[in-house]
Amino acid sequence: VAKRLVCSSCRKSYAVREPRWRCQCGSLLDLEFLPRFDLLKIEDRPPSIWRYREALPIEEDGNIVSFGEGFTPLQRLTVAGKEVLFKLDYLFPSGSFKDRGAALLVSKLKEWGIRQVVEDSSGNAGSSIATYCARAGIECRIFVPRSTSAAKCSQILACGAQLHRVDGSREDTEQAALAAAEDTFYASHVWNPFFLQGTRTFAFEVCEQLGWRAPGTLAAAVGNGSLLLGAYIGFQELMQARIIDRIPRLVAVQAQACAPLVHAFDKGTSDIPPIQKQETLAEGIAVAAPRRGRQILEAVRRTGGCFIAVTEAEIQESLMEMGSGGFYIEPTSAAAAAGVKKFLLHHTPPGPVVSTLTGHGLKAPPRQFAP
Ligand SMILES: [Zn+2]
Repeated sequence: VAKRLVCSSCRKSYAVREPRWRCQCGSLLDLEFLPRFDLLKIEDRPPSIWRYREALPIEEDGNIVSFGEGFTPLQRLTVAGKEVLFKLDYLFPSGSFKDRGAALLVSKLKEWGIRQVVEDSSGNAGSSIATYCARAGIECRIFVPRSTSAAKCSQILACGAQLHRVDGSREDTEQAALAAAEDTFYASHVWNPFFLQGTRTFAFEVCEQLGWRAPGTLAAAVGNGSLLLGAYIGFQELMQARIIDRIPRLVAVQAQACAPLVHAFDKGTSDIPPIQKQETLAEGIAVAAPRRGRQILEAVRRTGGCFIAVTEAEIQESLMEMGSGGFYIEPTSAAAAAGVKKFLLHHTPPGPVVSTLTGHGLKAPPRQFAP
């Protein structure tokens, strides 16, 4: 199967040779290709996402932009009296799981010969793209909402990127980046399918760490859903390759203050109803209108999964609980842990249950611990 980019709406397809982040009709593109998995080769390679080399759609090794990232630990914790395996994705070079996607996307940018990009983010994707662009020598401009934590802004600046703080919401920030994308390539972690190609490695690593078995359940915090969607694609590919024999049930966690997908799921629709977004500690998932919302809903429904909304108090409590256990994570990650707990209090899903801690505490230090 030749690699190609296919429109999720009009089905028009494009060769991957040419840089492109959306269809001519304006819709999202997905990448189609057949990955290969040679387990003996994989197990013989260094512990990074690049051990799955034949499954990663970069043509030339020389274009790979990497810090040796990935293969993060899978740690056992007891939550609501049940065992949960947490993937410590806050241990990536930029301090968040976004490096899975940025490593792939920026490698592809290099392969395409792109020298300048723009990107918008609530903070972590921006710092991740800035980190990898710095490594690749690509100039980048990052747009973030004014409310983005100071630590994430400093990180973006330290990587030599230009930072634009936008007055307004996460959605206003996207509009500002789209305007800038008129004359500069848009390295969007939401639009560009190569970003999702990187987050697939979450599924590969988890299955390998479980002895090439799939977890029964995967619970993750969802804003734009780049982790959950990428993992879902990855699990499907391992299933097609007959390496695993089931797709885990997907449990998607949102902050009650900004839960468009929870509302759509409860209503049984695939359209995302407009919501009135409230302030949330979980800035990384404060997305009122997720671009890939339909795909996220479909993935969760197809696996027999569900959505969970967590309150600000539950996020706060979980942040303290995880911190006192030595897991210094940002509030968005605490939302995931809070969702897992809430879910396990009422359900006994198929195991093993896997979840993920996606962002480091240094990204958004909790105010109550200011010395
Ligand atoms: Zn199209």
